[in-house]
Amino acid sequence: MKILVINAGSSSLKYQLINMEDEHVIAKGNCERIGAEGGRISHKTADGVEIKLDCEFPTHTEAFEKLVEVLTSGKGRVLDDLSEISAVGHRIVQGAELFSESVLVTEEVIEKISSISELAPLHNPAHVLALRACQKVFDPSVPQVVVFDTAFHQSIPDYAYTFGVPYEDYLEFHARRYGFHGTSHRYVSQRYAKLIGKNIKDLKIITCHLGNGSSITAINGGKSIDTSMGFTPLDGVIMGTRSGSIDASLVLYLMEKKGFTPKEMSDYLNKKSGYLGISGFTNDDRDIRKAAAEGNKRAQLAGDILRYGIKKYIGAYTAAMGGLDAVIFTGGIGENSAPVREGACDHMEYLGIKLDLQKNLDLNRKEGEISTPDSKVKVWIVPTNEELLIARDTKEIINKIK
Ligand code: ADP
Repeated sequence: MKILVINAGSSSLKYQLINMEDEHVIAKGNCERIGAEGGRISHKTADGVEIKLDCEFPTHTEAFEKLVEVLTSGKGRVLDDLSEISAVGHRIVQGAELFSESVLVTEEVIEKISSISELAPLHNPAHVLALRACQKVFDPSVPQVVVFDTAFHQSIPDYAYTFGVPYEDYLEFHARRYGFHGTSHRYVSQRYAKLIGKNIKDLKIITCHLGNGSSITAINGGKSIDTSMGFTPLDGVIMGTRSGSIDASLVLYLMEKKGFTPKEMSDYLNKKSGYLGISGFTNDDRDIRKAAAEGNKRAQLAGDILRYGIKKYIGAYTAAMGGLDAVIFTGGIGENSAPVREGACDHMEYLGIKLDLQKNLDLNRKEGEISTPDSKVKVWIVPTNEELLIARDTKEIINKIK
């Protein structure tokens, strides 16, 4: 069984074709600059064939047509016929309270995803465009499945997802914590349980997905019970260009001082803050580390803020779960940045966390344990694979309807 996984943004469409017999990626790629001039598709096969083609994508439909063409013809061809694709799985950012698990796409499902566009204006409208385009390009008999970033967090209890604003506004405007990166948190926690041969129902885990966007989740018995991102992905720890949690009054104060419109304020908090805003020159953890090592104080401060933020979440979520069995690091920074992991876990012996500093340095990007043998709480790096989980959910759902 071959499953196509789609991650559509407003101007891009990333894809992976996965063989579910052994879960290996047959080909992957990206259509860029949809709706603009100068579009291009980059496509890579498991055999190492790489192609880049300039093409115009007025809409998502042309992008789908092109990716189907490169999968089935030319140098990057990996399929004899499109009918070899059994199903398509789509990543959807916001499912709000309408979706607590992955589902088969129907007209009603598309309408529901569209109905909550206000909660994710940059993402959900693009997902709907991609779903429609996919329906046009594929035979209607090919099932499509949607997998939501928010769904895993629907198990968070009301006292953890409700903000302290008038309750009517939660009811009327859906103002609450949703959490994101759910597919990643679910994947790495399940993978960890499998690797250590334990039932996830018996584990209390904190997963730290640290990348350009970062979120931390408390997973008790396999269920998300709290997470650091909130109504939008702006909340939580400091990120590449996002501020993370700040006092809401500061937003109002700065809007007044700087004369910002809501859109300008949103850009300030989402695109000009975080690592970039603190350091003044980069959103990238590698640059931050290099500059800090060379004595750049603001780069050092940016890194310190992230490390301290993660540490506070580990402490808070241990309290929330009444204990802790494992901390898992994933995402570009979580998998690669030894100093971030070290800083987040230092002086945590009182909580049962003891990092093996050498293993922490050696194990970048690889799956494995980085705590000492006598550490009560295990610390692991587990590289994330959201596409694989989307493909697995898709397979499970289409097997049920067969
Ligand atoms: P996104 O959230 O956009 O998916 P990533 O998970 O790729 O982002 O994370 C991007 C961050 O990870 C950047 O700060 C970058 O410095 C860091 N990173 C990614 N790859 C590496 C690497 N090989 N070595 C060190 N840091 C890395």
